[in-house]
Amino acid sequence: MNQNIELSSKTTIPQLGFGTWLLKDETKCKNAVKAAVEAGYRHFDTAQIYENEQFVGRALVESAIPREELFITTKIWNDNMFWDDIEPSFEESLKKLQTDYIDLLLLHFPVTELRRPAWHRMQDVYRSGKAKAIGVSNYTIQHLEELLRECEVKPAVNQVELHVFLQQPELVAYCQNNGIAVEAYSPIAHGYDMTNKTIALIAEKHGTSVAQIMIRWCLEKGFITIPKSTNSDRIKENFGVLGFTLDEEDLMQIAGLDKGLRTCWDPTHVA
Ligand code: NAP
Repeated sequence: MNQNIELSSKTTIPQLGFGTWLLKDETKCKNAVKAAVEAGYRHFDTAQIYENEQFVGRALVESAIPREELFITTKIWNDNMFWDDIEPSFEESLKKLQTDYIDLLLLHFPVTELRRPAWHRMQDVYRSGKAKAIGVSNYTIQHLEELLRECEVKPAVNQVELHVFLQQPELVAYCQNNGIAVEAYSPIAHGYDMTNKTIALIAEKHGTSVAQIMIRWCLEKGFITIPKSTNSDRIKENFGVLGFTLDEEDLMQIAGLDKGLRTCWDPTHVA
């Protein structure tokens, strides 16, 4: 079963969701979202910069799943993090997604100079009730410490790159100790090393695929996660991780795979 995780906002988020980065083509995006709905996903992750909010929105409306059964995340892009731009850009996202609220609104990146005032605006959006939860993405411990010192509403989620090859134990512990849910993006490491021997052996033992072991590891660690695929068989396969568990031995072997590999941004240099 797809577990619901309670956020500090007191709303809940399905632990396993569907990522939509790079789904810029309308047909591809709509087909993928519809295949995901059919496979059982109810949690969808998009962003202003993905240029597909309108396609995700349309596919979800056409799926006829009641809005309250869906969980939608979008993210304020860096160019929209200026004081006067956050709210209009958020309203535009609502319009594109054909909804009057967002379940989780994230600041996409800890842009120096912009992130602190931007959080004040995020708090205003949260208080308006149009974002049921607010959070951040790509924040390091240093960025979170700064935010927690100053904020009135703390971030419910930190969405960061996290997978078997980038385990970030200190950041994970910091978030967990501060009541910030950890959301793992690129759980399949964006397709890097799908023939890894250690994972292949664990997959063979469980009768699963390598991708499934990588996604399942995120769930075992208590992370929310959002694998993306354009292929309906792989979309189903990835949702199939709810049907098995990893054991202590598997987890110990996977712990040894961490090599600090980043396939996306590296926010550690951002002052
Ligand atoms: P990912 O989910 O780790 O991997 C996607 C890649 O793996 C695609 O190339 C996909 O190809 C392939 N794949 C998917 N399922 C597979 C399977 N079962 N077997 C083999 N290959 C498989 O990477 P991601 O898209 O970077 O991350 C997931 C989501 O996280 C994004 O879509 C986005 O929503 C979010 N994200 C957020 C940020 C941020 O800054 N906040 C950054 C990056 C990502 P096919 O499509 O051909 O299946």
